[in-house]
Order: sequence, then structure tokens, then C-alpha cells
Amino acid sequence: MKTKILIDMDGVLADVYKPLIMEEYTKNNKIINESDLNGIAEYDAFPNLRKIVTSNNFFRNAPIMDGSIEGLKYLNEKYDVLIVSSATEFPNCINDKQNWLEEHFPFISWEQMIFCGKKESVCGDIMIDDHPKNLVYFKGKKIIFTQPHNYNINNSEYIRVFSWKEIQNIL
Ligand SMILES: [Mg+2]
Repeated sequence: MKTKILIDMDGVLADVYKPLIMEEYTKNNKIINESDLNGIAEYDAFPNLRKIVTSNNFFRNAPIMDGSIEGLKYLNEKYDVLIVSSATEFPNCINDKQNWLEEHFPFISWEQMIFCGKKESVCGDIMIDDHPKNLVYFKGKKIIFTQPHNYNINNSEYIRVFSWKEIQNIL
């Protein structure tokens, strides 16, 4: 049996910071450098986050993370891949998320898409996620994908990666 790997969407496959920063610029004329947000929680960095992500097909239009197509293809051939997203946090986004995955990662089947609430009931051997709130319950190998909000988190249980290239190198 192949090793089962759980892969998060937002902040791992989808680059959510780029459109949030763009929104701040177009709506509020505010110029934000992503590196200035290191160590700042998402809702502090973007106070309108909930409003933004629940409108304008935010998840449908999110850009993909650099290297994620090649990286996910690689993992999908070697491992039993499940895409696990806390989609019920944002009502009405589930169709957008499925359509987004089908467009950018057509080699991922519907059977591999797990849209859920809390992730603690989903089991696997390896988890790649940007949020410690998900990694903390996980029993297997925990890989934290670096995003500004988790930049200052130091936990010896987490393997920190900065890119999809790095994921391919270690897995
Ligand atoms: Mg995430």
C-alpha cells in the first residue's frame, strides 16, 4: 500500500496572499510587500479577509503556487494523494474549489478531493499544510509550508519547506 499524503489547498497549492495583497491595493491603494507580513496572523494582515474570500469567486480565481503542478504530479505518482481543504469554513466555495482543482490539476480525481471542516478526523502518513491548527492534531509526518502567517513558528515536530521544489527534494 502506498504512503498516504494529505495536501492542503490554500497556502500550499493556491497562493492566497497575491490576490489579498492585490485587493488591498485596488480597494484601498495600500501597497503591501509580502515579506512585511511575516509573523502576522492572516486576519490581522487582512482585516477584510472573510469578506474578500466569500465574494468575487476568490477561490475559483486564486493563482497557483509556483512549482505546484510539477510537485503535485510527482507526489501523485509516488504516493496516495488526498487534497484536504477546510472548505466548509467558507460557505459556497466548495464548487469553486473543485472547479479550480479540476482546471489546474486535472490528474487529481474527484475521489482524491476531501472538502471538510476540521481536519483532525482525516488520517494519513504525511500532511503538508500551512496552518499549525491542522498539523497539531496530525499523527504522521508534519510538513509546514512556509507562508507569512507561520513564519515565526518554531516547532521541532514540523519539517519546514519554503517551496514545492523543496517538497520534491525531501519526499
Ligand atoms: Mg491552508
